[in-house]
Amino acid sequence: EAATRLFRQGADFLKGVVAMSGLPPADRMEVCFAGRSNVGKSTLINALTGRRALARASNTPGRTQEINFFTLADSHYLVDLPGYGFAKAPVAVVEKWQRLLKAYLQGRQSLRRAFVLVDARHGIKPVDEEIMALLDTAAVPFQTVLTKADKIKAADEPKLLAQVRGKLAKHPAAFPELILTSSETGAGIDTLRATIATLV
Ligand code: GDP
Repeated sequence: EAATRLFRQGADFLKGVVAMSGLPPADRMEVCFAGRSNVGKSTLINALTGRRALARASNTPGRTQEINFFTLADSHYLVDLPGYGFAKAPVAVVEKWQRLLKAYLQGRQSLRRAFVLVDARHGIKPVDEEIMALLDTAAVPFQTVLTKADKIKAADEPKLLAQVRGKLAKHPAAFPELILTSSETGAGIDTLRATIATLV
């Protein structure tokens, strides 16, 4: 099937970008991943691509400023946006990457969809809503991916889903479909791969 074929061709790190001038040409379709620091973004990208250390699971403020580009099957980009909500980052640093993020989201013709990662234990937080508002403004369609699903009890799931759906209803760029994932159990990873493959 399409997703298997796409992801079997492999993913590689291309470059980390710190300024708009460093962006690779927008010559192929790309999807990006956003989320709070520690949401499990690096782990998810590694699980998606089957590469254990492709995206670095690192939460240091220095590394989180970069937009990391990965090639997928040589014909697409997976884009790892800087993790946000890092309390210890200096204001000037936060402002710099917010400007870069905004410029990237508003100007990237080849960006097909953003995946906003949300920790299933915490639901949508105000900082998540900030990035969602930015995506609304930039008219970038986005889909919410709940991470660490293995950490929540089945009994707590309906409440989580209701909270998330309620928040998403306010965002015009949001897809209502949620993807519940766990990098620990592998749940939802195939669904996410299939979703990305449909965008190709
Ligand atoms: P990032 O800052 O968003 O890139 O987050 P990381 O990928 O570095 O993950 C943060 C922490 O959450 C690490 O300790 C991971 O091992 C853990 N983690 C990531 N995904 C999962 C998951 O699906 N389930 C569980 N239980 N832990 C996870």
